[in-house]
Amino acid sequence: MPDLEKVVHEIAEEMRAYEDRGRVASYIPELARVDPKNFGIAVIAADGTLAAGGDCDRPFSIQSISKVFTLTLALGKAGDRLWTRVGREPSGNPFNSIIQLELENGVPRNPFINAGAIAVTDVILSGHAPRSELGEILRFVREAAGDDTIYIDEHVAQSEKRTGYRNIALANFLKSFGMLENPVENVVGTYFHHCAIAMTCRQLAVAGRYLAHSGRNPGTGYNIVSAERARRINALMLTCGHYDGSGEFAFRVGLPGKSGVGGGILAVAPGQASIAVWSPGLDEAGNSKLGRIALEKLAQRMKWSIFGE
Ligand code: GLU
Repeated sequence: MPDLEKVVHEIAEEMRAYEDRGRVASYIPELARVDPKNFGIAVIAADGTLAAGGDCDRPFSIQSISKVFTLTLALGKAGDRLWTRVGREPSGNPFNSIIQLELENGVPRNPFINAGAIAVTDVILSGHAPRSELGEILRFVREAAGDDTIYIDEHVAQSEKRTGYRNIALANFLKSFGMLENPVENVVGTYFHHCAIAMTCRQLAVAGRYLAHSGRNPGTGYNIVSAERARRINALMLTCGHYDGSGEFAFRVGLPGKSGVGGGILAVAPGQASIAVWSPGLDEAGNSKLGRIALEKLAQRMKWSIFGE
């Protein structure tokens, strides 16, 4: 097996030299202030060895990566009933598209496009006050990462709340189809806040371990979800985790992955490792440009693609 530590350091070094780093998301004003020169990577192998490089200890806004954690919680709460609220097919549309939602009567294509994630947030919110549900989400992430310092960046949450007209429109649209149980304001408020969780690559890689190891965190020995559920979440990450860039990501990287507009990507090499990368500049589909390139190099050099060497 290639030397993980060496490969991770090589990649961090190579990424430093890249000129074209994509464009930082600007529709959430607070995210536009992040320096595009940042690049971080952390990889935790099955035996617990952690290799990290670059800005791996700087917290960033995980944004849509949080949808993996809310999906995990929603499946725990609703089980297969969740699939009456949201589909399991790639959308082939941008992350915030509204068109498909009308044609499909308010059942979003998958849990990772914004409409789907808003529906998932509604499911976990039912029966709870927004504040206590947010507490539950944060507790889950902290426990998975084994780190109580993980926090919600209130500036980012407020910034998105002030400018999130489209997400508010999506939620209203879902409500008009009778597909939200809770008040729109509570659902989007909770959604904006879970998107505003800030984490470092190191924390995120550890938090993703249960997906790489059949639902179990090998660090603590705890089962977080069943093996079947972890496998299914990974399948959705592979097919839908990068919006309309999901096919390209599977083609180039060959690993389940979930991106966020903060420039992070959580990727899973089943049985091998959990990986987090971060570079704030995005490509046209809203996915981290250098993050994807770094993962492509990593999967290639470690021979981790799920499709073979
Ligand atoms: N909070 C972001 C939004 O709803 C998440 C999008 C993303 O990370 O892709 O627009």
